[in-house]
Amino acid sequence: MVSIAIDGPSGAGKSSVAKELSSRLGFIYLDTGALYRGIGYYFVNNGMDYNDESIINKNINSIKIDVRFENGTQNIYICNDNVTDKIRTEEISKAASKVSSMKSVRKFLLDLQKNMATKNNVIMDGRDIGTVVLPNADVKIFLTASPEERAKRRHEELINKGNKISYEEVLKSINERDFNDSNRAIAPLKPADDAIVIDTTNYSFNQVVDKLMKIVEEKVR
Ligand code: C5P
Repeated sequence: MVSIAIDGPSGAGKSSVAKELSSRLGFIYLDTGALYRGIGYYFVNNGMDYNDESIINKNINSIKIDVRFENGTQNIYICNDNVTDKIRTEEISKAASKVSSMKSVRKFLLDLQKNMATKNNVIMDGRDIGTVVLPNADVKIFLTASPEERAKRRHEELINKGNKISYEEVLKSINERDFNDSNRAIAPLKPADDAIVIDTTNYSFNQVVDKLMKIVEEKVR
């Protein structure tokens, strides 16, 4: 099986690029951030304090999480409830970032992610795919962009979805999540030693996709 790992900070364009690559290559695309968001959603939705690690540890193993590919898109089910559209809010972003720093949560989601890559050709995006989840991935990419550019893209996305949020708030949240993701003790956000780092600040979406397709073709031929 061929596996492609795409890591990077929030808003670097990982998921749109990974989606396009997966449709061109006919690979399954797993957005691993959605798994952490699903876990964050569970605690928010049940009114539990997601900052309290003892609460997380007590409940994590009873969460039923399923990833189903339906009509070509990834759907996340938490306890049989399709939460795919409910996990894209700022509140859930914060909860996901918090719970993702906890050991029990990372352990809980690790096998699910690894199993995907044993059964399918996959593109996975996240923070620790090239370093922890798929250390033997055939291709490892680290996509990044300046925080301001990432906040601009994320702000546009949220506004288009009808969210009323200021650019400043989005930038603050991006900076906070960068800090949390890069400084946590377990599986911090960083490029794998053998990853190809691409700064997308001044590239269009199509330019990034073309670059990645070239890299994949060279490595996986
Ligand atoms: O990619 P996305 O922004 O949807 O991820 C939500 C949160 O999940 C991130 O801020 C990060 O804290 C966490 N995450 C992670 N490891 C991954 C993917 C996401 O810690 N592989």
